[in-house]
Amino acid sequence: MDISGICITRDATMRAALDMLDRSGLGVLLLVRDAQVFERTVTDGDIRRLLLEGASLDQTLAAVSEKRSIVLPENSTRREALELMQKHTIDHLPVVDANGRVIDLVERRGIDEQILLSTPHMGESERDFVEEAFRTNWIAPLGPNVDAFETELAEMVGAQHAVALTSGTAAIHLALVLLDVGPGDTVFCSSLTFAASVNPIMYQGAVPVLIDSEPESWNMSPAALGRALEASHKKGCLPKAVIVVNLYGQSADMGPIAALCDLYGVPLVEDAAESLGAKYKGKSSGTFGRIGIYSFNGNKIITTSGGGMLVTEDKSFAERARFLATQARDPAPHYQHSVVGYNYRMSNILAGVGRGQLKVLDRRVEARRAIYRRYLEAFANEHWIQMMPEPEWSFSTHWISAARLVPDARITGPTLVQHVSDELIEARPVWKPMHLQPVFAHALYFPHGNDSVSDELFERGICLPSGSNLSMEKVDRVAETVLKIGRRLA
Ligand SMILES: *Cc1c(COP(=O)(O)O)cnc(C)c1O
Repeated sequence: MDISGICITRDATMRAALDMLDRSGLGVLLLVRDAQVFERTVTDGDIRRLLLEGASLDQTLAAVSEKRSIVLPENSTRREALELMQKHTIDHLPVVDANGRVIDLVERRGIDEQILLSTPHMGESERDFVEEAFRTNWIAPLGPNVDAFETELAEMVGAQHAVALTSGTAAIHLALVLLDVGPGDTVFCSSLTFAASVNPIMYQGAVPVLIDSEPESWNMSPAALGRALEASHKKGCLPKAVIVVNLYGQSADMGPIAALCDLYGVPLVEDAAESLGAKYKGKSSGTFGRIGIYSFNGNKIITTSGGGMLVTEDKSFAERARFLATQARDPAPHYQHSVVGYNYRMSNILAGVGRGQLKVLDRRVEARRAIYRRYLEAFANEHWIQMMPEPEWSFSTHWISAARLVPDARITGPTLVQHVSDELIEARPVWKPMHLQPVFAHALYFPHGNDSVSDELFERGICLPSGSNLSMEKVDRVAETVLKIGRRLA
């Protein structure tokens, strides 16, 4: 802040000091010697005490006692400032440089405000749909909200059938069950993703093979997929399915990926948990595979607090998914089961939240895209940082605005994340690739080329706060913080 209006020297009068306090409204003055060298803070209370002890308004501040005020060294973090204020229960912290000169004043107000990565953002009608469910006592799983949520989502993305489930993970699991993936089968999956993309392969006792990303979209490399399919074709053991993940709101390059799957006759499952609302060449993300899945987890672009959806063109898949997701009850008057079922159906209450959220999806997409553009502009002239690219065939929701440091930067992504976190901004590293995870260390991995792209993205990537309810001021604070740290360290 501008501190010129609150710096005062000992030869000023009490009257002048009170005047200055009045005008600034900050409740504190900075007593300085020559050349702005900081001595101590002076408050209303300090001056009133002197007056009560008999000093006159025309006397100077020479009578103010000497004391050492708590100061914050220049280049301290927001976290350090907050901790110092909390420890000494003070509301103002003068910032001093290496020569003891005061250069800034940090206020307590607002300093503890943390900027989060991605938080739920409710619209106007979620509550109405939920209240309707209460009013009509449709509290059980299933009910009119579930049916309507399925119909409305299917219509929105242009799918024939949609099945509302308890989570995106459950949807991937059911997709593999529908595709008859069983023990010993192989399933290919993008490596640069959240563990929930791969875990269901393990639930089925199948064997994951992990595929690298390409630099253009950060998503599955068609080149690596081609080599992996060719290798397994030669061995005579083609995968039972390929799970392609759409990262951070952006579709993978579906044209060549789907063509490769067709060529080898392998069904494609599209994990669009992060990309609801995105498009690939004008067609909705999630509708390219035999089966697509979405997630409505709390941090996703729209949320039901927890939930998922399976979409497909295949009516028999949709019917079978509903059957399996409700404990696989045979049509019989008693409880009879011929296959293993699951309790995976979304509740009518949560589907009500989902219906409200679906109504504002377009606005959420637009808000997140605007945040991405803001970061893009802020970093446009910085050689050391690049935003996640958006190829011309992609309409990304930018669910998460991700960026990467260039190869010759002097810090890694996780280091930048740490420094940004010290400013009370929740940034995250890019997903740690699945082939680097201890639990999947045994899995076969196909890199994009001689080098692994996903390893590099993990090492240099950073996910920035992207919630659709973030104000542009907060986005600017994030961008300025990243710039300040990067210019100093990268
Ligand atoms: C969130 C997520 C999932 C899992 O969705 P849940 O609804 O949390 O089970 C799966 N894959 C990816 C890529 C995700 O980001």
